[in-house]
Amino acid sequence: MSKTLHIVGGGMAGSEAAWQAANAGLDVVIHEMRPKVETFAHHTGKLAEMVCSNSFRSDDSEQNAVGLLHWEMRQADSLIMAAADKHRLPAGGALAVDREPFSQHVTDTLRALPNVTVVDEEITDLPGEGHWLFTTGPLTSPALGEAIARETGADRLAFFDAIAPIVYAESIDMDVVWAQSRYDKGETEEERKAYLNCPMTKDQYEAFIDALLAADKTEFHEGETAGYFDGCLPIEIMAERGRETLRHGPMKPVGLTNAHKPDEKAYAVVQLRRDNALGTLFNMVGFQTKMKYGAQTEVFKMIPGLENASFARLGGIHRNTFMNSPTLLDEQMRLRTRPNVRFAGQVTGVEGYVESAAMGLLAARFAIAELAGASLPPVPNTTAMGALVTHITGGAEAKTFQPMNVNFGLFPPVDLKGGRKNRPARYKAYTDRAKDDWRNWLTGSAVETA
Ligand SMILES: Cc1cc2nc3c(=O)[nH]c(=O)nc-3n(C[C@H](O)[C@H](O)[C@H](O)COP(=O)(O)OP(=O)(O)OC[C@H]3O[C@@H](n4cnc5c(N)ncnc54)[C@H](O)[C@@H]3O)c2cc1C
Repeated sequence: MSKTLHIVGGGMAGSEAAWQAANAGLDVVIHEMRPKVETFAHHTGKLAEMVCSNSFRSDDSEQNAVGLLHWEMRQADSLIMAAADKHRLPAGGALAVDREPFSQHVTDTLRALPNVTVVDEEITDLPGEGHWLFTTGPLTSPALGEAIARETGADRLAFFDAIAPIVYAESIDMDVVWAQSRYDKGETEEERKAYLNCPMTKDQYEAFIDALLAADKTEFHEGETAGYFDGCLPIEIMAERGRETLRHGPMKPVGLTNAHKPDEKAYAVVQLRRDNALGTLFNMVGFQTKMKYGAQTEVFKMIPGLENASFARLGGIHRNTFMNSPTLLDEQMRLRTRPNVRFAGQVTGVEGYVESAAMGLLAARFAIAELAGASLPPVPNTTAMGALVTHITGGAEAKTFQPMNVNFGLFPPVDLKGGRKNRPARYKAYTDRAKDDWRNWLTGSAVETA
């Protein structure tokens, strides 16, 4: 059996994967199209280029899910984390990175390894033989995008994300909100109660529309709206088209009866739909938006039942190629229809530098084990790594799948009394549990692949 791993795309995920695989003794070929073929966001031919902000976000491994992911990656000897730590800039509790020396460090380290070859070429097809890992990111080249769409079905590959905000279930006021599907549709009781409904009076609706129209928005870049706009209009654009448009669209109140006040007919209703199998996250149906983050939290807290909402992620619309991983990838990130091909990084529907690199790390470890004729134990979903990979390979709702940052809503709940007041203790319990489980998994998986 060939002991070569081909990695397509030398970004965050591909570089981390190459490091892990090379350290385990595999021959690694990185196929990177830059600088021959460019993207609109990358500016160099270096590996692991940071395309926009220079932040790896919070480095707090006790109270923050992305900080925990940093910790887990460091434990697994991550090159991306080592380079970030070496070229760290002062930024309070965040891990900010000096981008140029960071990507130079990753490039030099990988190119210096005798078992790593970097080939400057674009790959435009999914190979039928050999071991391949595709980490081509949000700006996957169009030719490769077409090949993926041919393999998976065009409706399984998106070219833009249209993210509606996602709310933590625990922060929704259930004394105001009630569970009901429109017209009580559904075969089972669970389906008939699949949505949470936030009712608005006429005054509340009018105030909400005023706030939406006045809110700060991010501008679209030239050409950004082509081809996707009509399917997922931002709510503020709908409001600009007419004050009643939302009431006839995502906020229509029909087919719903307020369980708390059965005699009162809501003037408008915001619906929330379960976003993960655990039931810890809910997305705001049809609420994709280009409002700035600060404006979103202010405006959405005007919605009855969401006054104290905490958001696992806010809304956005961006150029972003990603696949419907929950239906396409198995738990080891292999393409179900072509198991010699794995995917990792942002193209699998995680979001962010760290999450992408983390999934590259994990995919490489799956590939290393497979090439050694071993198999890894499942990654516990109590760890940040495991929570993310579980989400993209099956935990997320496939029909509404959109890119996701790591957050505690992806973890199985910890049993701690005290509700919101006790949040620091709860987050500490999440991260303590994760650290134990990740250490054990690393030890267990090292034994099995040896
Ligand atoms: C405009 C923009 C701004 C962003 N801003 C941020 C931000 O501020 N913070 C953040 O955390 N995330 C940001 N992201 C998301 C960011 O892209 C990811 O976080 C991260 O870079 C993804 O890592 P990756 O390895 O999956 O993809 P990338 O780092 O993009 O790496 C993919 C690599 O694959 C190569 N490639 C593509 N197609 C082919 C092909 N067919 N053959 C060979 N090589 C190919 C590309 O050249 C690239 O080097 C942004 C994305 C975009 C598009």
